[in-house]
Amino acid sequence: MEITVYKRHSKDCEHKADRTFRRCSCRMMLEWSENGKRFRVSAKTRSWTEAEQRARARMQDAHARTIGEQPKAGEPISLERAVEMFTAKKSGKHKQTQRKYQYTLNNLKAWAARNGRHYLADLTESDLEKYQSSWTTLKSSYAKRNEQERLRSFFRYCCASAEIKLPYNPTSQLEHFNVTSDEPEDPYTEKEYKAIVAAADRVPTFTGDVAERVKALIAVMRYGGLAIQDAAILERSAVTPATVNRKPCYRVEIRRSKTHTGVNNVVPKEVGDALLKVANAERLALFHRDHAGP
Ligand SMILES: [Zn+2]
Repeated sequence: MEITVYKRHSKDCEHKADRTFRRCSCRMMLEWSENGKRFRVSAKTRSWTEAEQRARARMQDAHARTIGEQPKAGEPISLERAVEMFTAKKSGKHKQTQRKYQYTLNNLKAWAARNGRHYLADLTESDLEKYQSSWTTLKSSYAKRNEQERLRSFFRYCCASAEIKLPYNPTSQLEHFNVTSDEPEDPYTEKEYKAIVAAADRVPTFTGDVAERVKALIAVMRYGGLAIQDAAILERSAVTPATVNRKPCYRVEIRRSKTHTGVNNVVPKEVGDALLKVANAERLALFHRDHAGP
């Protein structure tokens, strides 16, 4: 592996045409190819000499890894190397588990490369916090918690390993993601909920008061915590006026069909009013055959 060092000049640098110009104070970059992929990362220095030293350290590390050399005592361990050692350790685990670790650690490596963290010990607690806040594609707290658990396990290994001897675990102070057993996997945000309700007005086959019924159905699912099969067959008698903290509201009381457990939830007054407004004589019939189409 050969690493090229070069200047990424600022827009107003007078040497910006020449990326080999050494004497300005612009940022240094490292560039190389590995497994057919091109990497360009900040050298985290503005000095050409220092950037060259960092490039050399990376090249030595890559070389040691290709020939399978064990790290020498006292030698700083790259993240790449630590991941390899950890992966080797986990090679007896189930394929699915190994894949998950690979996914987690590849993401960490990519983030570290983008942020110029080469050595394992370069990763600080605040790095891990920043990294964690970049997990925008992981929607549920379950997924985040699992991702965090795998990271913790990797860093625990790095601390316990006699070869790596990481002095402190940057994940140990991270806040845990709160996951309770009855938390829905992906609760809708307020924006998503509004979009769902608004969609009821745009369905061409929802004529007459059907859109209103569907909105009432959505509202009772949300506020009453009902599953669709329970909400759809809600009896008028299940919705009764109530008062909570001297504020008028409604109580929705049913026996859930799927789990045979009871629901006794308070819903806001507007939701109860809307429910009763669209109610038929006995059943609310929020969602009967005629409208369940196609
Ligand atoms: Zn420059």
